[in-house]
Amino acid sequence: MTGAVLDGETVGVRCADGLIEAIGPEVTPQPGGETIDAAGAPLVAALVNGHTHAAMTLFRGYAGDLPLIRWLREKVWPVEARLEPDDVYWGTRLACAEMIRTGTARFWDMYWHPQATARAVEDAGLRAHIGGPLLDVGADSPHELREAALRDVEALAEFGPTIDTSLAPHSIYTVSEGLMRWAAEQAAERELPLHIHLSETEQEVADCLEAHGERPAAYLDRLGALGERTVLAHGVWLDRAELDLIAERGATVVANPVANLKLAVGGVLPYAAARHAGVAVGLGTDGAGSNDSLDLLSDLKTFALLQRHASGDATVLPAAEAMEIATGARAPGLLDGAGPPGAAPGRLVPGAPADFLLLRRDAPELGIGDLASDLVYAASGSVVDTTVVAGRVLMRGGEVEGEAEILARAAERARRLGIA
Ligand SMILES: [Zn+2]
Repeated sequence: MTGAVLDGETVGVRCADGLIEAIGPEVTPQPGGETIDAAGAPLVAALVNGHTHAAMTLFRGYAGDLPLIRWLREKVWPVEARLEPDDVYWGTRLACAEMIRTGTARFWDMYWHPQATARAVEDAGLRAHIGGPLLDVGADSPHELREAALRDVEALAEFGPTIDTSLAPHSIYTVSEGLMRWAAEQAAERELPLHIHLSETEQEVADCLEAHGERPAAYLDRLGALGERTVLAHGVWLDRAELDLIAERGATVVANPVANLKLAVGGVLPYAAARHAGVAVGLGTDGAGSNDSLDLLSDLKTFALLQRHASGDATVLPAAEAMEIATGARAPGLLDGAGPPGAAPGRLVPGAPADFLLLRRDAPELGIGDLASDLVYAASGSVVDTTVVAGRVLMRGGEVEGEAEILARAAERARRLGIA
């Protein structure tokens, strides 16, 4: 690629084997390779969606006016019990198309039929960390459930280099103590991440205190489930001691501000306290059933505004820092070791994953002022012109090839499930 503008400087980028081979003003295209003329477009790192349930695009616009627990128990879980792999495949393809269009290269997913998710992600060209949800509250056959989880882990390991495997115990209120311990042991033994919802509602904290006499982060830690490969979604009600513990263990917390607002949980991750404690923080959309968009830039604005509003402090989250949260630069655990040794995570440097965006040169939202500030407060994902993931051009000119057909197939699957 030639003629891109990175931090005010015109640069070329050369990619090989999914990585950035060279980047800088002196870099010229390699003869014979595919070349993009960026023609002065701003170049930025691609975004990382730290928590979602991609196939839940099928649930978009379905029963959205209920509180979390009723929404799950009465509306979502009964339909999910009827899901087939092809439902998950097309729901995930639709999510991937939206993520490509709005600049996300990598996402953390927790959903049923994880192999169908992996197929969809590979076909779309994105990267994902995938885990099938583990839930055993009221389950009759915990042994079979564990066997099935391990079969999924082994099957996911057979996919290509853009697919990473995780274990995904759903939450402390849907997973028994025994199953959580088992998941933590398996994750440690296999060096896999643990991806879990934590401290989303105040009720979850109250129930945990009543059942175990300790708050959710301390409870997880006692079960061996809080470590540097743990990714905690939400963290709305974490207190100071929990944030200190999470920082000490090196776990990551992913804020999902729009899902928190939509489900009216009463707050959002306390970012200033998390940063003060030294917690690694990322940003997620959560599933399209509870957001309902996968446009991470748009959620970044909501996150930044909520932090300013809640703290009464307009300096609490500078725009450049907010962009680092959205690209995973403040949560190395979300990038899972991607990038050259010693380099800061999420930076476009030689040896880093070739995951980057060209922004529309003619976007009025970006035409004047500081780029990071414009991206956080003025833009949405519609300013993305070109999305490159693992060195492959997945979108050029703001349109994802085949999106109309993908939408038609996903809508057909939602109708089959009786939710559209
Ligand atoms: Zn979630």
